[in-house]
Amino acid sequence: MYKKRGLLIVLSGPSGVGKGTVRKELFTQPDTNYEYSVSMTTRSPREGEVDGTDYFFKTREDFESLIEQNKLLEYAEYVGNYYGTPLDYVNETLDAGRDVFLEIEVVGAAQVRAIAPDGLFIFLAPPSLSALEDRLVGRGTETSEVIQSRVLKAREELEMMNLYDYVVENDEVQNACDRINAIVTAEHCRRERVEKRYTQMLEGDY
Ligand code: 5GP
Repeated sequence: MYKKRGLLIVLSGPSGVGKGTVRKELFTQPDTNYEYSVSMTTRSPREGEVDGTDYFFKTREDFESLIEQNKLLEYAEYVGNYYGTPLDYVNETLDAGRDVFLEIEVVGAAQVRAIAPDGLFIFLAPPSLSALEDRLVGRGTETSEVIQSRVLKAREELEMMNLYDYVVENDEVQNACDRINAIVTAEHCRRERVEKRYTQMLEGDY
């Protein structure tokens, strides 16, 4: 029997780019049609954060035991704390035909790309990347050291982009959300995905 599987959507990008803000905005919109995978972390809750909604807050011991039991799709250590994606939740939701949305840092995103290359990988880029171009050709408003360090940072960020299918500039949160939604819609219409679905359907006893 043919069963439609959901799309795994991964939003990542350099630290400080505003991934969390964009993700929160996406999930406050009533027409968002995908499920957010709540991550596990060993960091302490911030004021107002709710266990099970913002994160599943875990001790280091518990987290390490989840790693050993292969309960995580990916995990990474970020500024002294573990962050990871629960594997069962992702698989069950995809199997139920619903899209899953991960908002994770770049080391974890690279792991997901290796395991699930048919996912949709979106890189959130800082607007400073395109603003850099203006500064470089600009009127000499920045010292050459400042330009130099920005070029270096931009080069690192450009290298990170390699693993992704799409790049969304976070110029304004709402614009970024609109582009992400447009990408997800387009991705569902991609010929390879549609064709695969029909082939599976025709081969199965539907
Ligand atoms: P924060 O502590 O500010 O909530 O998150 C710190 C970083 O961890 C952010 O870049 C966020 O995207 C990333 N992050 C959140 N959940 C996960 C996860 O499950 N796996 C990975 N690899 N990174 C995560």
